[in-house]
Order: sequence, then structure tokens, then C-alpha cells
Amino acid sequence: MSDCLFCAIAAGRVPCRQVHADDEIMAFHDVNPQAPTHILVIPRRHLAAPSALTEADALLAGRLALVAARLARDLGLEAGGYRWVINCGADAGQTVPHLHLHLLAGRPLGWPPG
Ligand code: 5GP
Ligand code: ZN
Repeated sequence: MSDCLFCAIAAGRVPCRQVHADDEIMAFHDVNPQAPTHILVIPRRHLAAPSALTEADALLAGRLALVAARLARDLGLEAGGYRWVINCGADAGQTVPHLHLHLLAGRPLGWPPG
């Protein structure tokens, strides 16, 4: 989508601090980190939110999760623990309408989330 920020990042039109890129998935540091480690993992293809996923996206969703798990392992986050967050819609506070998984780590994360 031409007016989507994360599509622009995936296409290289907007710079980011990239930590992973393959044909389908990208990961980069959040510009406004909420924890010492705050990475966003996105599908390159535009999907507005998890609610846009269909059966046809099963492999893509799995790859998104696998990249997030591998990054957590490679960045040494497993010992201290980490959290995945996917916001969907207004009440969840989704601000960028392109599906993304937040990988947060490096401090105790409160529960329940705010
Ligand atoms: P949401 O609130 O939609 O779940 O998360 C959107 C995230 O994107 C926020 O954590 C916000 O800080 C991040 N973000 C917004 N604009 C940019 C940007 O231009 N670059 C990067 N790297 N992250 C961004
Ligand atoms: Zn998009």
C-alpha cells in the first residue's frame, strides 16, 4: 500500500535499523522503544492487522513467529525472558495499520498490560 509507513519501510523508502530481512519478513528496531530491546517484526506484504489473516496466510504467520523466536534466541533474550505483543484495533492501541509483532525485552514487563 503506497501510503502505509511499514510498506514504505519494507520497500526501503523509509530508513530503519534493520535486524532481519528475507523474501517475506522484515524486522527492525522500534523508533520509540518501550523497553531496552524493542523490535518490530512485519510481513513485507500489507496486511492491516491480525484480523486480516486468512488460511492462505498460515505459512506467513508461522514464518513471522519463527523469525521473532529466532531473533530472541540470537539476541540472547531467552534467559531474561521476553514478550510478544500484537495490537489489533483502537482499544489495543494499534497506531500503524500494517500487521506487526512487537518483541520486547530487557526489563520486567508488567501484567496485566496497560
Ligand atoms: P502499534 O501501536 O501500531 O502496535 O505499534 C506501532 C509501532 O511503530 C510503535 O511502537 C511506534 O513507536 C513504531 N513506529 C512508528 N513509526 C515508526 C517509524 O517510522 N520507524 C520505526 N522503526 N518504528 C515506528
Ligand atoms: Zn503496509
